Amino acid sequence: MAHVSTVGEAIRRTNYRDLVQSAAHAFCWMCCYVGKCSNGSDHLFKISDNLSDIVALKFPGECGHCIKSPCRCSPEEMDEDEDKDAKYPQLLERKKNNSYKDRSIDNWLFDFWKIYSGQIHLQTLESVGFHLLEEAGEEAKAVRNLIQFRGILEANITGVDEAYLKHISSIEGLVTEYSTTMSELKERYDKPRTKDAMKDIDLTSNDPLLIRSRIVKAKMDFVVELADTFSWLCAVQLKLFEILTHEKIDDSVVTEFHIEEVLKDRYESSTVEQPMKCYACEHESCECLFYPAIELVAEASLEAAAEESNKP
Ligand SMILES: [Zn+2]
Ligand SMILES: [Zn+2]
Repeated sequence: MAHVSTVGEAIRRTNYRDLVQSAAHAFCWMCCYVGKCSNGSDHLFKISDNLSDIVALKFPGECGHCIKSPCRCSPEEMDEDEDKDAKYPQLLERKKNNSYKDRSIDNWLFDFWKIYSGQIHLQTLESVGFHLLEEAGEEAKAVRNLIQFRGILEANITGVDEAYLKHISSIEGLVTEYSTTMSELKERYDKPRTKDAMKDIDLTSNDPLLIRSRIVKAKMDFVVELADTFSWLCAVQLKLFEILTHEKIDDSVVTEFHIEEVLKDRYESSTVEQPMKCYACEHESCECLFYPAIELVAEASLEAAAEESNKP
């Protein structure tokens, strides 16, 4: 998220050079984030699909709200909190019409321009940047909601086991599970809208349906907000390209900006075959030292335990 805030800062200072560099870093961060989720051992955060598949669920060549290209949403419609239960399976079906393997950033920029050029043209760079920050904040919120279920497997709740978490780690499994769980939940509370049924959930209950609803909602938000963050990151670039066609800027870093080129240069990899290097330690497999909080916590509790046992 740190790089997304740098994008915001660069926009506020109208520093296009910083903007293009922080946009490249934000994209790099997003790829690492999805890579960590798909390769990590945390079943809760696991996503077996790649970033393009995640984005394609929300933008399968069309706007995820009105399901049209170019988008024909009115601004009010886009802010509306409609029920997405029926929409996700519909979007998933549309996504299956195209292949999202080996997509480049240019493919996405092309798609987003095709769908949203009207909206991007009418908005200022600041306004597009605001949307990006808003979505990155929503993604952070979704991560926080998902983290609350890290210890869920130890709670031994019927139907909430490793197989369940595995099932919702693919986009297809997640969409199916989301639809059926939300239908059940709406029926249970007799509410026509998911949003209202979610509000009625008793957070102190370990009823399997309520726990599954909370998990699947958090995971869906995690996926969809990531897609939205990516789409606004692309919109920032498209707006910048639009500005550059009208403004005379004498800085090749800005005028020749291309995310992939910036990253290839930064990580010293000019071809697909040439492995990337960490720009800080210059090793192919980064050897920079970091001390994640989790180890500090474990260490602190060990120290506390040692102190406790030393007490007379
Ligand atoms: Zn639309
Ligand atoms: Zn390193």
